[in-house]
Amino acid sequence: MKKFLKLYFCIILLLLMSLLAGCSKKKDIVTDSAYMLGTHLNISIWTDDEKEGKQVIKECFRRISEIERKMSVNIKASDVNKINNNAGNFVKVSEDTTKVLNKGIKYTEISSGAFDPTIGRLVKLWGIGTQEEKVPKKIEIDEALKFVNYELLKKKDNNEFKLDKKGMQIDLGGIAKGYAADEVYSILKNKGIEHGVINLGGNIYTLGTKVDGQIWKIGIQDPLEPTGTPMGVVEFSDKAIVTSGNYERFFIKNDKRYHHIIDPKTGYPVQNGIISSTIITDRSMDADALSTSVYILGVEKGLMLIEKMKNTECIIITKDYRVHLSSGMKNKFKIENDRFQIENHNEDNKH
Ligand code: ADP
Ligand code: MG
Repeated sequence: MKKFLKLYFCIILLLLMSLLAGCSKKKDIVTDSAYMLGTHLNISIWTDDEKEGKQVIKECFRRISEIERKMSVNIKASDVNKINNNAGNFVKVSEDTTKVLNKGIKYTEISSGAFDPTIGRLVKLWGIGTQEEKVPKKIEIDEALKFVNYELLKKKDNNEFKLDKKGMQIDLGGIAKGYAADEVYSILKNKGIEHGVINLGGNIYTLGTKVDGQIWKIGIQDPLEPTGTPMGVVEFSDKAIVTSGNYERFFIKNDKRYHHIIDPKTGYPVQNGIISSTIITDRSMDADALSTSVYILGVEKGLMLIEKMKNTECIIITKDYRVHLSSGMKNKFKIENDRFQIENHNEDNKH
């Protein structure tokens, strides 16, 4: 009996020791930055193994670089350029590019053509954010518009795509960063990381909760102030949050601002009063395509679209300092700068 008791206490002691050892393994932040996809990237994770954490982040950056090589218009041998340079013929592309193009086509349909992956000619013509940025002549815009038509982007099984008219160009700038963020999220999850923040140039993806179990508070950029100045805060965990804004890439000529989100109907940067549109949903690629789509659709149509979508919310800011929220945002968003005001929208939109 005595022997049995001894063994019993030994087991309890061992259990206690292992528990204490577990507690002493504190999770610390490991963070790293890079410049890819034409923007600043930062990944932060909380882990008890710093060395392994750094390796995991490196792997994420390698994956982003791989996605960039396939989807950038600035890389000669990318899948996108293969399609662009072989207009008229079907071109086989990677599984990655196929997924992004398929999503792009889906959002073209959902947004009634506001989001258009065949916008390439117009993006190149304006050259916003490049050395060649300029206000094109009307005649040049009319010419480029002839080469923007999502109906002429054809797909076949086995990852094959075709642009039906020579001179047309695909541009995935409005969606590829979202795909990259989703892939990073998967890598982190597979490595057992439970808490993290992925920030791909403003495309934010929160992994799990904060390390102390609290919900993440994410600042929404004040579109009228320098980068890093929030106008409000959203509270969400394990969600993608993506903003499209007229302050991200633009130039000013004769007091007029020309930014990088282009209306495929007119060929000009969208001017409908919106200065930023933020989408919060489960996957970053959806959030990315939708933030661009809602920006182009405008407040009314944009809100209507978001109300129809499951687990999807939006925050639209207009130049009159009004903030337009989807119905699920009401208790999740707080204004931190009084010059902004929440506009009441009819809840009848909810379907
Ligand atoms: P950012 O890249 O700054 O995060 P967005 O996600 O809103 O912003 O994407 C803007 C980019 O999308 C542009 O730089 C261009 O490459 C592309 N783009 C511009 N207009 C359209 C459009 N109507 N449909 C699809 N993509 C677009
Ligand atoms: Mg986008």
